[in-house]
Amino acid sequence: MHGKEIWVLAEIRNGVPSRATGQLLNAARTLSDEKGLSALAVVVGGSLESAQQLTPLVDKVLWIDDPGLATYSSAAFLDALGQLTESRGKPVAILTGTSATGLELMPRLAARTGGGYLSACVALQWEGEELVARRPVYGGKVYEEVAIEVEPAVLTVRPGTFKAASPLDSPGSLEKVGVNLSDSSGMTVVAKESTSSSGQDVTEAARIVAGGRGIGDEAGFKLVEELAEVLDGSVGASRSVVDAGWRSHDEQIGKSGKTVSPELYIACGISGMIHHTLGMNTSKVVVAINTDPDAPIFKCADYGLVADATKAIPELITSLKGVLK
Ligand SMILES: Cc1cc2nc3c(=O)[nH]c(=O)nc-3n(C[C@H](O)[C@H](O)[C@H](O)COP(=O)(O)OP(=O)(O)OC[C@H]3O[C@@H](n4cnc5c(N)ncnc54)[C@H](O)[C@@H]3O)c2cc1C
Repeated sequence: MHGKEIWVLAEIRNGVPSRATGQLLNAARTLSDEKGLSALAVVVGGSLESAQQLTPLVDKVLWIDDPGLATYSSAAFLDALGQLTESRGKPVAILTGTSATGLELMPRLAARTGGGYLSACVALQWEGEELVARRPVYGGKVYEEVAIEVEPAVLTVRPGTFKAASPLDSPGSLEKVGVNLSDSSGMTVVAKESTSSSGQDVTEAARIVAGGRGIGDEAGFKLVEELAEVLDGSVGASRSVVDAGWRSHDEQIGKSGKTVSPELYIACGISGMIHHTLGMNTSKVVVAINTDPDAPIFKCADYGLVADATKAIPELITSLKGVLK
């Protein structure tokens, strides 16, 4: 049995820990320091090299290594994490990003460990001895604060909620953990295919240029792509354009797509219906370009431009190229 801990379930993408993982390690370190707990990163599968990349950011990294964890499957990852809670003792909390993996795995992990699950948290703090999470409900119209009375608190946190962890004075240690995976899940991953046009997961991007139906057509997205490239960012999309087949679903932002919190979100030709804004309304700076001055997107924009996006974007690109060169 170990002392009380807070775990961050690391997400490894293409061999590299996600941006959200670094941010959650910052949160775990702060919450742990306040209560004399220990913050740990848990890497399931991945490689030794990917686990080692986290040692500058946290005192201890647990690397669960098994050939059955080479490719993500919820059953195998759940089994591995369940065994870790049994061998090591339940932590106070387990945090991961509000990603497709987090949303699939964490409720199951809460059920397996007898913990309490909350998704899409946007703030975490201690109130007395209780960990309190803040999260949007009713389509983001209100926020609720929930005290989690059971252990572990199994939480997904919106990317961008916390700043990235700064390196420690001296790197943490890495412990390799073995598991005996049961092969009774009935699931086998036969192949993994990336559908992302840019290759970068939009939830990881610090800058997003998102396009909606106002962009006109599929070809119009060349401008959105170009602006994203100039800003070293990613392309996002509204559901209308995904439904129209102009963009792939992995770029969709919103209730039935992804939740993002970049430093900069530029919405081009997007009306700003609640289903869309729910996925981006915690972005640090929002810029909206729309021909309709009454478009709802302007209500959540820091900077608004009433203009034809197909004319404004090329001008923006030219100006930015001048400034950023
Ligand atoms: C259960 C449910 C889940 C949903 N999930 C999502 C989701 O995850 N993500 C999502 O995005 N939507 C989602 N929707 C759909 C959502 O309600 C909206 O219908 C959708 O976001 C609208 O997309 P849009 O803004 O691209 O298109 P439109 O609503 O058609 O808006 C186009 C905008 O472009 C502007 N425009 C037109 N021409 C130009 C131009 N030349 N330059 C600049 N602006 C121009 C118009 O003024 C308008 O504001 C969901 C809906 C439901 C019911």
